Amino acid sequence: MRSTRVAALVCALLAVGALIGAQDKNILSLTNDLGATLEWDPLRDAGVISFGDDRIAVAVGADSALINYRIKVQIDAPVRRNGGVWLTTAAVGEIGDAVQKDRLAHAGEHLRVQYILLDPGHGGKDSGAVGSVSSGKKQVPLMEKDITLSVGRTLAALLKEGFPEKEVILTRNDDTFVSLEERVVIANALLEKTKDTILYVSIHANTSPFNKTASGFEVWCLPPAYERTLVDEKAAGKENLDILPILNSMREEEISLESTILAQNILSGLEASLGQKSANRGLRQNDWYVVRNARMPAVLTEVGFVSNAEEAVGLADPAYLNEVAQGMYSGVKAFIQGFERSGSGSAR
Ligand SMILES: [Zn+2]
Repeated sequence: MRSTRVAALVCALLAVGALIGAQDKNILSLTNDLGATLEWDPLRDAGVISFGDDRIAVAVGADSALINYRIKVQIDAPVRRNGGVWLTTAAVGEIGDAVQKDRLAHAGEHLRVQYILLDPGHGGKDSGAVGSVSSGKKQVPLMEKDITLSVGRTLAALLKEGFPEKEVILTRNDDTFVSLEERVVIANALLEKTKDTILYVSIHANTSPFNKTASGFEVWCLPPAYERTLVDEKAAGKENLDILPILNSMREEEISLESTILAQNILSGLEASLGQKSANRGLRQNDWYVVRNARMPAVLTEVGFVSNAEEAVGLADPAYLNEVAQGMYSGVKAFIQGFERSGSGSAR
């Protein structure tokens, strides 16, 4: 009785040994050995290994791994056995080589900001918010589209001077109408041109027709819970669709953090530049169209209220708008310096 049981056990062990193979690596011990972290989605049986700045996505049964959101490597499909997920030595080797190659090809690159996209709101037939200021004995209209263009152009000039190695782009450089969709297309097209970070800074002015005392500046970014489609299905490939939601939420976390830091820096810059002239209304969260659809750190700055008589005088004054641009410039500059120094930036 006993001997048959032992024999059965030995047989079972041998079978398991043959299946797993002495060389196979358990994904959990592998990540532990590397000092990496593993995020696993049990429902999809797929996960992402975070190793420094590198992200390696694998799924049980999928014969390719996705490295850093864009590089596909053919591997032996990971298998689930004995309550664990196993990778063959060959698969581990393939993944290691791909990570190494990508690191060499883009050494240091991804911690750089390459593009700064400035987006002056409204334009052409779309005036945005309209207030008025007195000029002599007359009241003349004060249009948001003019304020945003003026600040955008000055900010672009400051950034080009301060960061000659970066590319500063305006979604509009004159009084023309650009739709929200077109603005997002301009932003996301830059993703094809660089693996580095792109910053998206939208510029607007506020109005509060029912509360004319409202004044001050504020910076908006996306609420952290918002789920965007950040990782392209095409890049991931059909067989990696299971991994997309995890990749997406990890990318979202990174971009959300970067957006928040950028917003805080711009608020501090404006506060320092404008001093007592305007109030800091703080960091706000909303899913504005442009912020929601641009797949990069993105913020929307409201530089002041055209509906407030006192603030409108400032917003109609080129010298004041220059101070606004200076403040925003200090904020963007502080972000870039922190980001490029930190070594904790994300892969794009
Ligand atoms: Zn606006």
